[in-house]
Amino acid sequence: MSLPVYRNYINGRWVNGSTMGVNENPSDLDNPVGEYVRGSVSDTTEAIEAATAAFNDWSESSVQRRADILDAVGQELQARKEEIGLLLAREEGKTLPEAIGEVTRAAQIFRFFAAEAVRIGGEHLASIRAGVEVDITREPVGVVGIIAPWNFPIAIPAWKIAPALAYGNTVVFKPAELVPGCAWVLADMLHRAGIPAGVFNMVMGSGRLVGNTIVQHPQVNAISFTGSVGVGKQILDVAAKRGAKVQLEMGGKNPLVVMADADLDVAVNAAVNGAYFSTGQRCTASSRLIVEKGIYDRFVQAMQTRLSKLTIGNAIQQGVDIGPVVDAKQLETDLGYIQLAKQEGASLLFGGELLSQPTRGHFLQPTLFEASPHLRISREEVFGPVAVVQAADSFEHALQLANDTEFGLCAGICTQSLKYATRFKRKAAVGMVMVNLPTAGVDYHVPFGGRKGSSYGPREQGRYAAEFYTTVKTAYTAAG
Ligand code: NAD
Repeated sequence: MSLPVYRNYINGRWVNGSTMGVNENPSDLDNPVGEYVRGSVSDTTEAIEAATAAFNDWSESSVQRRADILDAVGQELQARKEEIGLLLAREEGKTLPEAIGEVTRAAQIFRFFAAEAVRIGGEHLASIRAGVEVDITREPVGVVGIIAPWNFPIAIPAWKIAPALAYGNTVVFKPAELVPGCAWVLADMLHRAGIPAGVFNMVMGSGRLVGNTIVQHPQVNAISFTGSVGVGKQILDVAAKRGAKVQLEMGGKNPLVVMADADLDVAVNAAVNGAYFSTGQRCTASSRLIVEKGIYDRFVQAMQTRLSKLTIGNAIQQGVDIGPVVDAKQLETDLGYIQLAKQEGASLLFGGELLSQPTRGHFLQPTLFEASPHLRISREEVFGPVAVVQAADSFEHALQLANDTEFGLCAGICTQSLKYATRFKRKAAVGMVMVNLPTAGVDYHVPFGGRKGSSYGPREQGRYAAEFYTTVKTAYTAAG
């Protein structure tokens, strides 16, 4: 059977690339999802030039027109959430319910920014000088380069593309190579919704060629990147030097604190969901479980029992709790960290082994180590179904352990104490805090992002997205 071929979308046309790649299915390596074209430096340059040429008209287009296009995409995503969820589960490996949930999220984001497009506001003030008025307005920044990771193949592109277009920018979007299917779906919907040629362009291909060209090109005014710390830092070096606006969302080593007064079921549910759902491949995953001594033994035992009941398997099969690791390279990283943790002296409490299934895929047991805080397994992001648990003597000790990291994306606490919850919300050195909830799982209408090594630049999502996708102008008028 011939596979679907996903093409690049440049200046309103579907174009071939210089080479082809295979879109693998990590649950079933013998049944790939499709093929995709890989763009070259010249394809990327053409997309940037098209976005530059289209900017003036789009930035002056009626906000109703922008709203209608974004709303059409939102409606279509919602209507086709099961079909696109299936594609997402097949190419990325999260379970079908998680994948359908992600498509629903993307639909909500497009509809939210459709509404925001008609609400772009400003301020009108009296000047300190008599007879003068001051207007503060927001204007688009220009051509925006969007570089996305593979782990949320439709929601992350949605939360970058929708605000970029809503506020009047033009876009060159580079998806991750592992997930071209979902990227193509978004481009196809925008095309059919009537996005003018050049306003939105999608170039699939390598970070080295396509990504680098976007980062270096003088006509790309702003770059929104989500991905690893290493690549993010490289992008910042190059883009900041040439004066581009940069927004980076990167890794995490998110702590979940469990106090002795916590409801054990709530804590175990939050830990299992936060650490292992979506195969642990979430930047907000709870990879450090910091547990007060009074509940430590009961918590560890309850985790072992819960983990032994989880079903790991083909992402599209009913009843599967955890799908495969996304690809062979990430699996090698996960297994490398499991090996390292053992060598470092961490003790394995659960998992650590590959699983065989009826289909050939990258199936790994959810893995839990008891590990002291200074070990690499406790400090570095694995980005797989691997977590560590460590004991804390008191609330203050737990807080200190939680903040003892180079990252600062999200932190959670399970407690029944208002005092601990309030103090944790105030003192956790992160961008997002969860109380009696998993660290992963956020709303679309409020800011998303972190501190320290996890993020750089303004927050994403909700109305705060305007901080990155617009620039402020202050105009003085002599009133006559
Ligand atoms: P990655 O950094 O390898 O790749 C991200 C994107 O950058 C891809 O599209 C890739 O092709 C591109 N890229 C690679 N090299 C480049 C270069 N030199 N120039 C320009 N672009 C380049 O990350 P990944 O493996 O796709 O995703 C996993 C990482 O993403 C994890 O570290 C995870 O924590 C992070 N992540 C963070 C958030 C967040 O919001 N904080 C959300 C999801 C994922």
